[in-house]
Amino acid sequence: MAQVQRMSRLMVKTLRDDPADAETLSHKLLVRAGYVRRTSAGIWTWLPLGKKVLENVARVVREEMDAIGGQEVLLPALLPREPYDASGRWDEYGDLLFRVKDRKGADYLLGPTHEEIFTQIVKDQCSSYKDLPVILYQIQTKYRDEARPRSGVLRGREFQMKDSYSFDTTDEGLVESYGLHREAYQKIFARLGLDYRIVSAVSGAMGGSASEEFLAPAAAGEDTFVDCPACDYAANTEAVTFALTPVEGVEHGPVEELDTPDTPTIETLAEHLGVPASATLKNLLVKVDGEIVAVGVPGDREVDLGKLGEHLAPAVVELVTAEDFVGRADLVRGYVGPQGLDKVRYIADPRVAPGTAWITGANKADKHARNVVCGRDFEVDDYLDVVVVEEGDPCPACGTGLKMDRAIEIGHIFQLGRKYADTFQLDVLGQNGKPVRVTMGSYGIGVSRAVAALAEQSADSQGLCWPREVAPADVHVVAAGKALQTELALDVSEKLGAAGVRVLVDDRAGVSPGVKFTDSELIGVPQILVAGRRSAEGVLELKDRRTGEREELTVAEAIARLT
Ligand code: ATP
Ligand code: MG
Ligand code: MG
Ligand code: MG
Repeated sequence: MAQVQRMSRLMVKTLRDDPADAETLSHKLLVRAGYVRRTSAGIWTWLPLGKKVLENVARVVREEMDAIGGQEVLLPALLPREPYDASGRWDEYGDLLFRVKDRKGADYLLGPTHEEIFTQIVKDQCSSYKDLPVILYQIQTKYRDEARPRSGVLRGREFQMKDSYSFDTTDEGLVESYGLHREAYQKIFARLGLDYRIVSAVSGAMGGSASEEFLAPAAAGEDTFVDCPACDYAANTEAVTFALTPVEGVEHGPVEELDTPDTPTIETLAEHLGVPASATLKNLLVKVDGEIVAVGVPGDREVDLGKLGEHLAPAVVELVTAEDFVGRADLVRGYVGPQGLDKVRYIADPRVAPGTAWITGANKADKHARNVVCGRDFEVDDYLDVVVVEEGDPCPACGTGLKMDRAIEIGHIFQLGRKYADTFQLDVLGQNGKPVRVTMGSYGIGVSRAVAALAEQSADSQGLCWPREVAPADVHVVAAGKALQTELALDVSEKLGAAGVRVLVDDRAGVSPGVKFTDSELIGVPQILVAGRRSAEGVLELKDRRTGEREELTVAEAIARLT
């Protein structure tokens, strides 16, 4: 017996107009169809219909996590500061972290993600290699004080995440746990009916090495990814730089060093370059003692030789011509701008030396990088060669022209390695009786974001249009008329419910058929069954929400079709 939800008793107020502040389709439609209401910036209330969809997504996630042996737990969202101090993330997270104080003045935070606490729990609960591997997960409210909490539930400051963590004693074990998650995620997103791609990603604030994202292509997405039409290369543009691989036969440009015992002068530099001392140069990068002090890029900025004086010291001065340090100097322009690193598009240029990336502007003080941390993501002394990715640029793996699209990050999987285990000295007793350091993975799915991503991908001009697995009901029965129609609608709804079909029935009195039809399109249940003109003969109309196809059926036929 599935639930028959009568709209006459459901708290749902649909709106004809888009909310004034809404920019994305999912934001507009989820509000208009009465799924969610904004409580504050980036803070959302899930109304009855919305809560059903959210729970359906959570159920699919839960089933697939259980299927790979995940054990569900529930950690607090209100967390003490100390473990996040130990990992460095109390500071690293910066403004993103919601920090709170208790009555005694002690510091707490609202958890943005839970690596620290899970590490501590496993340290407390597992002592032997026999206790591992272990996969723990939770579906929980997370808090991040996002700078731009627009787009409705796509980017909340409070949101639902499924986060899981794997614990293994060996590197091979970690790879296996990661693989299990990757497969589970593929099943989850396929079941949810999401169109998605798996792309290489940057590990960001999590730390660690290997990481991939699950991206759902959608215009409202805040990520950009490149995708090769000829091979399986796909990457978040944030990550392309970090996926550089050496290309045979391509040499990095020469770096000229002026190793002078005396402080070099403008004149010596100019002489070396074969230009007048008053020259401004567009194809030049100047490093003094490893520090980048000036960069010139065609069409953007120039190195004014005359102004270099203050930087010169009895030191190694390196001059690198732009053609050498970036294969395509013209593409650097987009980077050396006022925007943060996460705003910039990159590509691995086969002509660029592997393992390096250009992270500073004219000097290190004016660092644009926001998601990149010196010494962690790259060697401080290296400069990174970054070029801006453009549609059609060569695929780093096979050279074919890349395609580029916007997408929503719906999932992210990381091989963390021993970063957190080192911080908290998470060891278990190994087979040989000696302690073994545990290696970890962490894996996230934006459960509430997935609802918005689904709305983005499936909605049409009439409204939402849910895949059956996540829809708030299987069938939306509409009583389009008077008492006779309502009676038939309720009768068929009861029968469907008894057969296990989830029914939403619009039995509202005093609401015109026109309004009910419009609402049924907006709410987006996959099948719409109308008790209308031919109700006296026991004939109903079945409409497919997606295709719009209609068909007249008797009650018995309709029940047979829908069960
Ligand atoms: P984004 O790049 O969109 O800010 P993220 O990379 O910071 O996301 P992760 O730390 O990888 O996010 O978290 C795991 C998952 O949680 C993400 O893949 C995403 O689906 C979801 N998520 C992250 N931030 C938000 C948010 N503010 N609102 C809703 N879901 C979110
Ligand atoms: Mg983020
Ligand atoms: Mg991200
Ligand atoms: Mg991420």
